[in-house]
Amino acid sequence: MALHVLDEANKCLGCKKPLCRQGCPINTNIPEVIRLLKDNKLDEAGRMLFENNPLTTICCIVCNHEKQCEGSCIRNRMPSHDPVHFSVIEDYISSTYASKMTSGPAPKNGMKAAIVGSGPSGLTIAVLLARWGYDVTIFEARDKIGGVMRYGIPNFRLPDTIIDDFKLRHLDMKGIKIRPHTSIGRTLTIDDLLRDGYDSVFIGAGLRKPNAMHIKGESLGNVAFAIDYLSDSKAFNLGDNVAVVGVGNSAMDCARTAVRNGARHVVCYSISSKPYVQASHYEYSYAKLEGVIMRFNLKPVEIRENGLVCRETVTDENGNITEKPGTEKLYRHTGVIVAIGQSAESTLINTTHGIDTNKRGLLTVDVDGSTTRPGVFAGGDAVQGARTVVEAVAMAKQVAEYMDAYMKSLPGKYKVDPYSAVPEYEEPLPDSVGEQRI
Ligand SMILES: Cc1cc2nc3c(=O)[nH]c(=O)nc-3n(C[C@H](O)[C@H](O)[C@H](O)COP(=O)(O)OP(=O)(O)OC[C@H]3O[C@@H](n4cnc5c(N)ncnc54)[C@H](O)[C@@H]3O)c2cc1C
Ligand code: SF4
Ligand code: SF4
Repeated sequence: MALHVLDEANKCLGCKKPLCRQGCPINTNIPEVIRLLKDNKLDEAGRMLFENNPLTTICCIVCNHEKQCEGSCIRNRMPSHDPVHFSVIEDYISSTYASKMTSGPAPKNGMKAAIVGSGPSGLTIAVLLARWGYDVTIFEARDKIGGVMRYGIPNFRLPDTIIDDFKLRHLDMKGIKIRPHTSIGRTLTIDDLLRDGYDSVFIGAGLRKPNAMHIKGESLGNVAFAIDYLSDSKAFNLGDNVAVVGVGNSAMDCARTAVRNGARHVVCYSISSKPYVQASHYEYSYAKLEGVIMRFNLKPVEIRENGLVCRETVTDENGNITEKPGTEKLYRHTGVIVAIGQSAESTLINTTHGIDTNKRGLLTVDVDGSTTRPGVFAGGDAVQGARTVVEAVAMAKQVAEYMDAYMKSLPGKYKVDPYSAVPEYEEPLPDSVGEQRI
């Protein structure tokens, strides 16, 4: 491993205007990190990575490197077409450095922030605000933190242990509080958080609602939506011949998970032709390697207990799709997974006054991430639509600075709790305690 990492580091030309850095959505200083590594300054390199990107241990695994840092490396233009594989270097440095991170909470500045959602955007804000002295509480609808990183991206791509380690080092050790199983917008609302003394609230709720095709059969017992299937695939019984509708990254995750769950025949269906596959080249290739079949130019029109009825389509050179009525056929399957994306859930917003959304249900924010409600900020997929982990982190990093400036500008920010001095209720010992002791 170390040899491989150093081989990759030695390939770097230390460019003055590094294209790799431009290709990284969070602007990682790649040549400098590599220089520090080569100078045996592993800790400095690790610190640089974490200061720039609190989720470096995760991004180095899940980023779409071929389109970002590595795809932009100048060495792609050389005849050997041999980019520096920085993700391997980042993985080595960040995981080694993370295992040494033990420092406790920063001194508190007397202000509190609430974070709704523990995906990459919420976690980034939480880590940065805690680093700057804020008392941070994360509200998470599910039982564990991580958002799509835990409940969407399968374990064989991103092991849960990495997210668990993040929790230990960045949340538990830094004194960040977590309220799991707490969906804001139900019993507790954003108004309640503001009432309870949080100086600012960040919404990083992502996109939770699966998109439906709205065709007959979608509610049958042998059908699952991708995000539900990925969150607990073993809970579904889809048989051993599974159809996946879609050819994006989450469709590939579903297909590869179905293979690992024992399906012997897995087919992905795309409404358009092969050049319009949205999945990354690697994910697509892995799925094919694992035996997943891809069928193109087919539009599902009905789901049945015994399969999927599809109509043929034609895709022209501009990507326009034309359906061919009368070409419908039944493609036999025991189960169907609908993997055509997610959209925003409205409960959180409907229960709060003054927060605007656009036509797609995404939160309307200013350049500083502030929503239309003073003190409430937002970021990640809930604002940008479906993007990537590193883009959620990059946006959250900027919003954290604006939240910090907003909270520091609040007049009388050190609020006095009117009940802070009330005496504690003393529980009287009931007689029965004595009787039981005898
Ligand atoms: C299947 C799949 C695979 C993907 N693979 C990759 C990949 O390989 N690489 C990559 O870079 N990106 C990938 N992405 C995209 C990436 O995961 C997202 O862009 C990113 O997670 C968005 O981060 P977020 O913080 O905005 O929201 P999320 O990760 O969606 O997290 C939102 C969190 O908020 C919680 N929440 C929602 N509403 C409430 C509420 N009312 N109260 C409390 N908590 C709430 C949710 O439970 C969740 O934990 C993938 C996406 C999917 C769906
Ligand atoms: S954060 Fe992602 S894109 Fe940026 S250098 Fe790391 S792996 Fe590459
Ligand atoms: S573009 Fe490639 S060679 Fe140049 S600094 Fe970045 S990683 Fe090194």
